[in-house]
Amino acid sequence: MTAKLKKMDPPKYSRNGKVCFQRLYFELEDGSWAATDLVPSYRNYKWWEPVIKSGLGTEIGGVFLKDGYRDKINADSQVYIVQEPLLKQPQPQNEFSFTPRTYSFPSFTNPKNSYEVTYHYGIPQCTCFDFKYRNRKCKHIKALEQQKVEEAQQKQTALF
Ligand SMILES: [Zn+2]
Repeated sequence: MTAKLKKMDPPKYSRNGKVCFQRLYFELEDGSWAATDLVPSYRNYKWWEPVIKSGLGTEIGGVFLKDGYRDKINADSQVYIVQEPLLKQPQPQNEFSFTPRTYSFPSFTNPKNSYEVTYHYGIPQCTCFDFKYRNRKCKHIKALEQQKVEEAQQKQTALF
């Protein structure tokens, strides 16, 4: 089945905070809409990556619905691009960008040290002890996320 990419949500964390996912919405051949959640660290992401890169309006083939659903696309569909959009709408740069982004953080306890938080496909990684050995969101990642939320809020206020 073919489908057209109509909308992309910004990436967000799952409730347990462990995976970052992005929800994509497609218009199906019969005009109805169906969504799918994509996790960049999953193997099936390789099929979707070119679609996300191509952006809104991209028409894809190889789409299967999830068993028992009419509005959920199976993320394991081996999709391919049928037609790129006539007018490209590039995605703004964010954590889901294709090049890793690194932010440097001075250590809270020893300002001479610094830690680096790197986002690659929406997955943050930090060089600090807490992240490496406990494998969970450390204070640097949390601080960065907080900062981003505030920036986003400021931008929104600036619009009004
Ligand atoms: Zn850290």
